[in-house]
Amino acid sequence: MALAFDDYGRPYIILKEQESKNRLRGLDAQKANISAGKSVARILRTSLGPKGMDKMLQSPDGDVIISNDGATILEQMDVDNQIAKLMVELSRSQDYEIGDGTTGVVVLAGSLLEQAERLLERGIHPIRIAEGYEMASRIAVENLERIANKFEFGETILEPLIQTCMTTLSSKIVNRCKRSLAEIAVKAVLAVADLERKDVNLDLIKVEGKVGGKLEDTELIYGIVVDKDMSHPQMPKQIEDAKIAILTCPFEPPKPKTKHKVDIDTVEKFQTLRKQEQKYFDDMVQQCKDVGATLVICQWGFDDEANHLLMHRNLPAVRWVGGVELELIAIATGGRIVPRFQELTPEKLGKAGIVREKAFGTTKDRMLYIEHCANSRAVTIFIRGGNKMIIEETKRSIHDALCVARNLIRNNSIVYGGGSAEISCSIAVEAAADRYPGVEQYAIRAFGDALESIPMALAENSGLQPIETLSAVKSQQIKDNNPHFGIDCNDVGTNDMREQNVFETLIGKQQQILLATQVVKMILKIDDVISPSEY
Ligand code: ADP
Repeated sequence: MALAFDDYGRPYIILKEQESKNRLRGLDAQKANISAGKSVARILRTSLGPKGMDKMLQSPDGDVIISNDGATILEQMDVDNQIAKLMVELSRSQDYEIGDGTTGVVVLAGSLLEQAERLLERGIHPIRIAEGYEMASRIAVENLERIANKFEFGETILEPLIQTCMTTLSSKIVNRCKRSLAEIAVKAVLAVADLERKDVNLDLIKVEGKVGGKLEDTELIYGIVVDKDMSHPQMPKQIEDAKIAILTCPFEPPKPKTKHKVDIDTVEKFQTLRKQEQKYFDDMVQQCKDVGATLVICQWGFDDEANHLLMHRNLPAVRWVGGVELELIAIATGGRIVPRFQELTPEKLGKAGIVREKAFGTTKDRMLYIEHCANSRAVTIFIRGGNKMIIEETKRSIHDALCVARNLIRNNSIVYGGGSAEISCSIAVEAAADRYPGVEQYAIRAFGDALESIPMALAENSGLQPIETLSAVKSQQIKDNNPHFGIDCNDVGTNDMREQNVFETLIGKQQQILLATQVVKMILKIDDVISPSEY
């Protein structure tokens, strides 16, 4: 290894041809990379669609995750290969940008790689393939724009939004309750959406879960849910028009910060001390009452004596509330977090329409619902389910549904699902291929074939004959000049995805095609792989 400097004086390292490095060049490099990318896509292929399989992943510490979500599966897999990591990254980018379609994007990329491999074998230069793919992706994206439908929605017309969210949920474990979950997701997004700016801040939607009950018990709460209960069982369980003091100071007499020793040698001295302590508590409660608080939420605990006094003075309290929740409560109720009793003022109290404690099943579990808060539109989706795995998977599925609803608010165009949009693009791309005189036309045609891998995988996963089903649907699309025909995965009896109400967002589908093309182009352009050899 040697250190050298370039024209601008920046240092760089020259790697010698060392035996300690593994090196793959040219076609070998491309083939090795393609095969790594393909193997990742193969894993996800069986998970695509409403009849897709789920994967069970075990983490090193024994935690088990069952999921159908592409991004989650890849995230949990411990991949070593750098190209495989690119595919993981691809699925993650789709998740960040769109939130749904994370399986589809990887399957598409895998199929593009597979087609590229064939072209490479026929002697076509990787750059020509990359350029052909780029042209084809542009044609496909334009075609999507052409076949997209716009729909109007409003506070009262929620149906299209709900239907689109249902399509997303139909491929997940939770599809038993897809209708109710889709409704919850849409209502949650609309509750926090800024329809004028066409934007949704998903941070305002908190997704909480608790083991127990049924998936059907999942509910949307217009407020916050805190996993805490009233500090004393005899305190009221419901407070209307609550004025909440949010305290980070403990309900206890101040402790001197230096070392100290108190000598108590007579009963009188003990009595005085006790009285003094009681007076402290009494003053603290009085201070809260004076400013008009009807509920105190404390970051710290307090002892039984203080608890009893609070109950006695009719001031309900919640103790040991975590910092994050405390902040959330303060933001939502428009209150201030108060660090000292002396600083309490009526303006610093948070306000909520109703605060109630709810018990679950036969367990001792109780939770605090803070609803109709003064300041914020924050909502909580509270998931119930048989076990932790179901709850976690429901959280991920709800996340996808929320993202889809948000995307529709940003852009209300949809395309039809079930592979129909891909087939339509494939037809458009193949028709366009003939117009290109160069070698690129082979790549463009190959892109068309790759697009068909999505309907093919959907058919395969539903137990249908992939090639027969696809060719039948494709010829139907061409014959009727109708881009709504797709794969009838659920055996409903019609191929028309419009009738089946299988929708996907236009921006999601476009993003899938663009991202997959980008990554495949990147992989094709690598012709030298230098990696440290294994010792
Ligand atoms: P992703 O993670 O990519 O969203 P999914 O496993 O959710 O993958 O599968 C989505 C695919 O399943 C889409 O192509 C969608 O059009 C299709 N799909 C969903 N519901 C249906 C249905 N009822 N009939 C046919 N295809 C469907």
